[in-house]
Amino acid sequence: MRPDALLYPAPEGLYCPEGGFYVDPVRPVERALITHGHFDHARPGHANVLATRQTLDIMQIRYGDGFCASQQAAAFGEEVLINGVKVSFHPAGHVLGSAQIAIEKNGTRIVVSGDYKRRADPTCAAYVPVPCDVFITEATFGLPVFHHPDPVDEMGKLYASLRQFPERTHLIGAYALGKAQRVIRLLRDTGYDQPIYIHGAMERLCDYYMEQGIELGELCPATIESRDKSAFKGAIVVGPSSAFADRWARRFNEPLPAFASGWMMVRQRAKQQGVELPLVISDHCDWPELTETISDLRPEEVWVTHGREEALVRWCQLQGIKARPLHLVGYEDEAD
Ligand SMILES: [Zn+2]
Repeated sequence: MRPDALLYPAPEGLYCPEGGFYVDPVRPVERALITHGHFDHARPGHANVLATRQTLDIMQIRYGDGFCASQQAAAFGEEVLINGVKVSFHPAGHVLGSAQIAIEKNGTRIVVSGDYKRRADPTCAAYVPVPCDVFITEATFGLPVFHHPDPVDEMGKLYASLRQFPERTHLIGAYALGKAQRVIRLLRDTGYDQPIYIHGAMERLCDYYMEQGIELGELCPATIESRDKSAFKGAIVVGPSSAFADRWARRFNEPLPAFASGWMMVRQRAKQQGVELPLVISDHCDWPELTETISDLRPEEVWVTHGREEALVRWCQLQGIKARPLHLVGYEDEAD
C-alpha cells in the first residue's frame, strides 16, 4: 500500500482514511489517536480517543471528565484493529505516557513518533526504535547547532548558583507536564533532599506522577500567604515560567529566575525572557539524536512534521533516504 494513501496531512491533522482516524488532531474529530498529553497534541472535544492509560489520565486531569465522549486505553505493544488498520503504541521517552503510534496495513508500516527523545529520563518509559517503512518525526531542534548538554551538568550550574547566592529564592521555570517532574527528579537524583516548592498549576500533575510510582521527594505548595518571605531564602521553587512575570514571583526573596528548556541553548532567548540562569534541559531530540534515530531505523522515507524541517529533510536526502516536510500547523515548538 502506498504510504501517502495510508496516512496524509489534512487540515485537522494526520489522517488515516482506511481507519477513519486522525493522529493528534488540532480540531475536534470523531476518532482521535493521541501520542501524549501536551496541549498542542492532546486537545479536548473529540468523540472517541485512543491513547495510553497515562495520556488519558493526564487529559482528564487537564480538561476534566468530559474531555471526550468515549475513551479506550492502549497498552504498549498491544495491537488494536481499527476498520482493518493495525495500530500499536510504543514508548517515546518524551513525558509520562508518551507514545509513538505505528499504523500498518497490507505490509506498509508508518510510525508517527509524536514528540520523542533518546536521553535517559526516569520519569517516563524509554524510547524504543520501531522498524518502519515511513518514520514521521518532528524537528524542533533540527539544526546541527543544537547539541543538548548532559542534564546533570546543568544541575551543577544550579548548585553553583545556590552556593553563590544562598539567600536568593531560585525560581525554575519548567513546562507543567513532563519538564517540571523531570527537573524535580534530576534534583533528587543529584542529591538535593530539601523540600521543593511547586506552583499550584503543577500540583495535580506532580501528584499523578507520584501515584504512577515516580519518586519526587517532598513537595510543598509555593504559597506565600501562610509563610514569611524569609522561609523561601535559598529555596528552590518550580513553576511555569509564565508565572514569573506576575506578582506571584515578586513575593519571593530576591528571586533568581532560571528556566529549564532546550531553547536555553539560544542565549538571545534567555536574555529576552529575563532568565538569569538558563538550564539547557530538553524533552526533545537534539540534532545528533534526530540523525542517529533515522540512521538506526533506516526507513524508506522520512516525513518531517514541524520545527526546522528543511535541514533534516536535506540531511536525509544526503543519506539516500527519501524525505519531505509535511508543514503541519498547530504544533508548538516553544513548549520545551
Ligand atoms: Zn510534547
